[in-house]
Amino acid sequence: MRIGVGVIRPDTDASPRTLLDAVVTDRAYLARMGLDLQRSPLVVHSGILPSVAYDDRLVFGRAIRVGDSANFATPTLGEGIRVCIEFGRLLGEKLGEAARTGRDGPLQEYERACRRRLKRDYKWGFLVNTRAARYTPAQWNASVRRMGQAGPDALVATFRGAFPRTKIARMALNFLRLYLRSRLRRVRARLGWG
Ligand SMILES: Cc1cc2nc3c(=O)[nH]c(=O)nc-3n(C[C@H](O)[C@H](O)[C@H](O)COP(=O)(O)OP(=O)(O)OC[C@H]3O[C@@H](n4cnc5c(N)ncnc54)[C@H](O)[C@@H]3O)c2cc1C
Repeated sequence: MRIGVGVIRPDTDASPRTLLDAVVTDRAYLARMGLDLQRSPLVVHSGILPSVAYDDRLVFGRAIRVGDSANFATPTLGEGIRVCIEFGRLLGEKLGEAARTGRDGPLQEYERACRRRLKRDYKWGFLVNTRAARYTPAQWNASVRRMGQAGPDALVATFRGAFPRTKIARMALNFLRLYLRSRLRRVRARLGWG
C-alpha cells in the first residue's frame, strides 16, 4: 500500500516529508483508518516533478532536453512514464541518425514531433491545473458538479491532458457563461432585484 503526499511549488513552501510524517505517526488517525504500519517495513520514495508551463524548445546545440527535464509529464496528473519513454526512444533514433549522417536535421525533427504532439494539450493542461490548484473547497464542489455534467469522456480527457479544439471551445463557452452569470448577479444586486 502507498501513502503519498504531493505539493505544488511555488504555491506552497510546505515540506511533503513533514506532511507525510504527520500522517504516518498519527496513531489515532491510523487506527481510525484501520491501518497498521508496524507490521511491514516502511519504504519511502520521494521525487520532484516540474510543474511549469510547457516550453517547446528542446535542442540547444549538444544539450537536448528529454523526459522530466523537458516537462513531458502531463500537466494535469503528472503522468510522465509513457511520454518520457516514447519520446526518449524517438530521441535515441534521431541521435543515431544525427551521428551517422553528421547532420542536425534529425534533432530538429525530434523537437518538431514533441511540439506537434504536446504543445497545445500541455498549454491548456497547465492552465487547467494552475486554476484547479487555487480552488477553495467550495470551488471544488462546483467543479465536481460541472465535471458530472460534462460526462465521463470529458473527465478522462482532462485527466489524460488531452485538449482538442472542440474541448477548448466548450471550456471557453462555459467560462463565458459563468462570467456573464456572475456579472448579471452583480447588476441585479446593485439594482436591488434580489
Ligand atoms: C512521486 C511521483 C509519482 C509519480 N507517479 C507517476 C505515475 O503514477 N505514472 C506516471 O506515468 N508518472 C509518474 N510520475 C512521473 C514519472 O516518474 C516521471 O515523469 C518519469 O519517471 C521521468 O522520466 P525521466 O527519465 O525523465 O527521469 P527519471 O525517471 O527521474 O530518471 C532520471 C534518472 O537519472 C538519474 N540521474 C540523475 N542525475 C544523474 C547523474 N548526474 N548521473 C547519472 N544519473 C543521474 C536518476 O537517478 C534517475 O534514475 C511520478 C513522479 C513522482 C515524483
